[in-house]
Amino acid sequence: MQDYLKGLNKEQAEAVTHVNGPLMIVAGAGSGKTKVLTTRIAHLMNLGIDAFNILALTFTNKAAAEMKERIEKILGNSNARNLYIGTFHSVFARILRGEAHRIGYPNSFTIYDTDDSRSVLKTVINELNLDDKHYKPNVVHSRISQAKNALVGPAEYATDHYIQQEDMRSNRPAIAQIYQAYAARCFKNGAMDFDDLLLKMYELLQTFPEVLHRFQHKFKYIMIDEYQDTNTVQYQITKLLAAANENICVVGDDAQSIYSFRGATIENILQFQKDYDDVKVVKLEQNYRSSKSILNVANEVIKNNKGQIPKDLWTDNEEGEKIKLVRTMTDNDEGRFVADTIQEQKLRNHYYNRDFAILYRTNAQSRSFEESLRRMGIAYKIFGGVSFYQRKEIKDFIAYLRVVVNTRDEEALKRIINYPVRGIGKTTIEKIVIFANEQNITVWEVLQRAGEFGFKAGTLESINNFVTMMRYFQSMLGDKNAYDVAVQVGKHTNLVKELFNDKTVEGLARYENVQELLNSIKEWTESPDSEEGEVIEKSLGAYLQQITLLTDADDDDENADVVKLMTIHAAKGLEFPVVFVVGVEETLFPSAMSINTREELEEERRLFYVAVTRAKARLFLTYANARYRFGNLVQNEASRFLDEMPEQYIDKTYAGGGLHNKGSFENAGSAYQRMQRGFGDYNDMASVEKRYGPPPAKKAGPERKPVESKPSYMPPQATAPKVVEHKP
Ligand code: ATP
Ligand code: MG
Repeated sequence: MQDYLKGLNKEQAEAVTHVNGPLMIVAGAGSGKTKVLTTRIAHLMNLGIDAFNILALTFTNKAAAEMKERIEKILGNSNARNLYIGTFHSVFARILRGEAHRIGYPNSFTIYDTDDSRSVLKTVINELNLDDKHYKPNVVHSRISQAKNALVGPAEYATDHYIQQEDMRSNRPAIAQIYQAYAARCFKNGAMDFDDLLLKMYELLQTFPEVLHRFQHKFKYIMIDEYQDTNTVQYQITKLLAAANENICVVGDDAQSIYSFRGATIENILQFQKDYDDVKVVKLEQNYRSSKSILNVANEVIKNNKGQIPKDLWTDNEEGEKIKLVRTMTDNDEGRFVADTIQEQKLRNHYYNRDFAILYRTNAQSRSFEESLRRMGIAYKIFGGVSFYQRKEIKDFIAYLRVVVNTRDEEALKRIINYPVRGIGKTTIEKIVIFANEQNITVWEVLQRAGEFGFKAGTLESINNFVTMMRYFQSMLGDKNAYDVAVQVGKHTNLVKELFNDKTVEGLARYENVQELLNSIKEWTESPDSEEGEVIEKSLGAYLQQITLLTDADDDDENADVVKLMTIHAAKGLEFPVVFVVGVEETLFPSAMSINTREELEEERRLFYVAVTRAKARLFLTYANARYRFGNLVQNEASRFLDEMPEQYIDKTYAGGGLHNKGSFENAGSAYQRMQRGFGDYNDMASVEKRYGPPPAKKAGPERKPVESKPSYMPPQATAPKVVEHKP
């Protein structure tokens, strides 16, 4: 027997050694689903199946990188680099780079991130003479996104009775019109938004049988992790790809489906057995991750969901410590408690920083933990939040690079045409856009033919200079790598100089950020040039693609000794020795927006299940009686999920206001409401502040450095990010 099979249990081994025909593994958290998937890929390769013929779709690019690494370890060679592993978006983006011309896009198409999409939407909404206060771009965007993920195009959207009723009900009947205009504008700009990466892939396979056949032939073995979170378009694409060989293996847990707000549908799991004949179904019931206490609590809570495939998840692991349920006065106390406990656990149980994770429902909750960790001198890292790449100076710089690669990219072009200021004012830009629309040509074409449009001499000269400069950058694309082009852009646009001359604190930070960006492009350019089964050219286009596709959880560095802070969504599939699930309060978790229907509430409960099952040995659940949200002090009851946990596995503690008295909090159990009543004076802001200090500062004070997220957003290819110690 091969070594890699030895440690597996019977069901796991069965799944790993099932080679041909459809296979479905539905199993609870920590039962080894991902391990089975990984081992199975190694097994296939061990049998002589070519890595080039294997496609594995994961939820984050980081998961993909990890998988590849483990496979190399198992096989003892580097053949795994030829595998096609990645997220749906990254794999399809890569394929579209070679095929997009067939459906009318340039192969160098731009990928619009959420910000870009909203900005285009805003333009389109205004052009349609609609009010963007009513047709809020983010609302419209999520509507369009839903439609795309359900494979509903603009035409169908406009005629679908049900959709139209919905839009009428929210008094936004023009969304269909906006959708149509938005799609047309993206196309004209040679740009795809995130949803298009899936939608266009589907269209490509649908429209061109020869392309479909080629990829069916290439991907003889297909594997999908976290299948419960796939949406309709993902489902349809994989169904098309798998149709010829039917060697498709999906792995999932219906109890961990947490993306229905993005159109994921659990039906895909249920449908699988109907789609293929002779599906082999494997159930994994042993959990290898968590202590008995943790697993039992998770099992009990999820039982409250009605729509769940019944599962019997058990573990051989030790009983372990009881789950600590901790109440604090305020969110600041909560932060302090967590930092204190981390310090204490490190001393007492010899943990490292990297053994701890703090998981929250929303990104905004990170603040109090950051502050207390910093005060204690504990190194930490935040995953997600305001991305490095969302900062203005970075977006400006990248906008230049985008236009260099794709002149049709109107969003980027408008962003930089007069930045740094070069005498092409707002009115001129408006005129340019109007000309472009009238003549149905791109903005870039108007600029190139500026002489024909009657601009004033000075303006014309500015435009011509701009065009000449951009052409110069473009001329380098063929033979210069991404870094070389970027350096020229920084220099000739005066972008770097402009920031350098700004000697304010913010200006300095912006200058450093741009330097950091250039560093990261350099590192990327110099990193190994074979990834995901393909030789990567170090072109500017390739660089832009990979930074747009970075996902929240992708910037993990296993070796960095830092406490990890992230949302529960970002923690999917991960595990940590000690987990703090914080802010377990009504209106926060479950979220106030998700308690109106059973479906929504059940999704919140699954999220809670995901959170709890990340923990291996120790689990802390904390909640605060009062916290500042959106600038106001609000009081909250303990989350209803806490009431659903069996008492015998739980230790209740009060770690209250300011005094740090960790006395036991007896009798909290049955009536969180009673406790709630005890804090009536919280209605009075002044008395609260007197007791517990002022509300958290709205602006960072001088000693509060901005969130150190720089190292977190380096592209995955970059060498180990520098971890910043947050000294008190
Ligand atoms: P999730 O539902 O959270 O994605 P999962 O089902 O994918 O979890 P894995 O992450 O693959 O589970 O495995 C959980 C842990 O259990 C990992 O640390 C893994 O190494 C370990 N594990 C899985 N199977 C075995 C086994 N047969 N023997 C020892 N450890 C195992
Ligand atoms: Mg997993």
